[in-house]
Amino acid sequence: MNQSIQIQFCALIFLLLICYYSFKRQSVILESMWIYRQLVVVTTLCVMADICSIDAILYAPESQAAIYCRIYLFLVIWTSFLSFNYVCYDIVKLRHKKKLRRYFFIFTFILSIIPFALPIHCNNVPGEIYSYGPAVTYTFIVAPIYIIGSILMILFFNKLMNPYRSHAAMLWMLLETTGAMIQLFNRQILLVSFSMALGVTILFAKMENPDSGIDRNLGIYRIQMLYEYLKQLFDNNKKNYSLIIITNESTEKTSLSEDLLLEVSNYLKKSISDKVFRGIANDLVIAVPDDGGLDQELVQIKKRFEAGWSDNQFINPHFISVPSLKLFKNESEFFSAYRYYSNIVSDNHEECFVFDNDAINNMEEYRTMQNEIKSALSEDRFEIFLQPIYSVQEQSFVSAEALVRLRGKDGNIIMPNRFIPIAESSGQIEQLGERVFELVCRLIHSNDISAIGLQYIEVNLSVVQCENPELAHKFLKIMHKYDINADKLNLEITESGAIKQNDVLLDNMEYLRKFGCTFSLDDFGTGESNLNYVVNMPVDIIKFDRTMIRSYFSNEKAKIMLESVTEMIKRMGMHIVAEGVEEQHQLKQLSDLGIDYIQGYYFSKPLPVDDFLDFIRRNNSSTSKI
Ligand code: C2E
Ligand code: CA
Ligand code: CA
Repeated sequence: MNQSIQIQFCALIFLLLICYYSFKRQSVILESMWIYRQLVVVTTLCVMADICSIDAILYAPESQAAIYCRIYLFLVIWTSFLSFNYVCYDIVKLRHKKKLRRYFFIFTFILSIIPFALPIHCNNVPGEIYSYGPAVTYTFIVAPIYIIGSILMILFFNKLMNPYRSHAAMLWMLLETTGAMIQLFNRQILLVSFSMALGVTILFAKMENPDSGIDRNLGIYRIQMLYEYLKQLFDNNKKNYSLIIITNESTEKTSLSEDLLLEVSNYLKKSISDKVFRGIANDLVIAVPDDGGLDQELVQIKKRFEAGWSDNQFINPHFISVPSLKLFKNESEFFSAYRYYSNIVSDNHEECFVFDNDAINNMEEYRTMQNEIKSALSEDRFEIFLQPIYSVQEQSFVSAEALVRLRGKDGNIIMPNRFIPIAESSGQIEQLGERVFELVCRLIHSNDISAIGLQYIEVNLSVVQCENPELAHKFLKIMHKYDINADKLNLEITESGAIKQNDVLLDNMEYLRKFGCTFSLDDFGTGESNLNYVVNMPVDIIKFDRTMIRSYFSNEKAKIMLESVTEMIKRMGMHIVAEGVEEQHQLKQLSDLGIDYIQGYYFSKPLPVDDFLDFIRRNNSSTSKI
């Protein structure tokens, strides 16, 4: 066999293998893969035409050989154009210029049929088999233009390209150029086809192997594929897909082995959809066409989970259903919503969460507030308001509760119920809590509060802060900075089943108490009201929540309860603050009952610092007691 043909056959075998592997996987096809597939097919045809043309030059009449040679030249132009197209597709700016790409296709088609109109000759001397003449010269001018174009594109738009792809594409282009140069000067060495095959193989290995998008352990698509696939759907405005997200958090009760996940993903692939992806952590994400069948599919999946898996293993996942991708502008928005809600859903132990417009709006509000908190922290827009606390025994105001406010950019006040829960879940509460503490310390430092009759200021602590082992040290440092005694501060903690790290909280409390800080148990009588807290926590004051106070005046049983709890607490040697006292008769009855301190609108709403100091000076100095 002729040596040149042997090289071509090698190239052909390479290409046929790559064709097989790139067409094997069908379910999730990215557009870049389509373009690559076109390229592989045309390159394979080109090599086939090359072999046929050599064979024809050797054994067929010249007129027949000329046809094969022209087909080969036609395909050479197309191969180089498709390489150019492949490179351009990776450049974000050019990807969306569909019209421009169409014009290029038409233009290339015209260029590629010109060799059929130009003369061509065949050289059949043993050892030197090649074609020549104007058609060949023309092709070897046009094709390199595309190759040079691709090289320039890679050089100029390097930053806009996937670095792996630009690297692989550059190598491929250089190989093709080298092959073409060698062939140009040594006509008998037919290297172009072989170098094309080599280039396509490099691309396959580095970028376009569909198996590289597959998770090795589970045989489903990786999360990067989910991202790219959704990106493509959004780019092409094909939002007619629904998603089911199964979030499988490992807990103490359910540990998730890869074997179990494999069993689950095999089931999903077989029975629900062939588009199963790995999501964040151990999540599985299933894409199904948006044809209204989502609920049925969800029911089917839930039933399967209820039935349990092999070895009697059960998982209780949370489901997030996304009825339509139309809810999102783009893939980033989807991912950010997915990340946001997957935390919330597992924290709230919700079994199934459905994405709807409200969910998106809530998330947007959350994000806006998160940004607002961030900028308010850096622009010093948090303020404290103070609400006076009245001592029944001393008949004067002896303390106050510091309540944080956010001053919006427009100057308006934003109340804590709008930002504290968000700061708590985003983790910003630590910084915010410290800021409030510092503001209170600064206030005590620059005003002699004892001179106006105030013994201490109460500062609210959030559960998240209490669980930080550094809390006590941080607070002591701030107190030291402002040179104030710890007994000027009382920290309000909330009884909460949410406290996971009770030991840390107790350590913090013990440490701060050593320096003179006192503690209050806030919001007593709400939620999971638990007398154990009163017994076990080293607190000095119990603050009765205003709901408890309200029911005291409207509900006979609540009255009995409050009275007995009051007696119990007093016998344990603690003091009580009644919150939310709004009317004089309430003040009177609660004072008669033996409540020590009264806080509420009856005396004053929380006031800005200067107004508060005026209020205290005015009221504590007046001889007529309230
Ligand atoms: P809280 O600790 O229970 O604070 C008492 C809330 O009751 C305050 O609301 C106060 O304005 C309100 N209040 C006081 N007296 C009356 C009354 O007579 N009638 C009525 N209807 N309400 C009264 P505010 O300032 O909106 O604070 C709400 C919550 O935000 C606080 O509840 C507290 O849980 C949280 N918070 C405020 N400041 C901070 C802070 O610096 N850190 C932390 N972690 N949470 C804070
Ligand atoms: Ca409080
Ligand atoms: Ca309270």
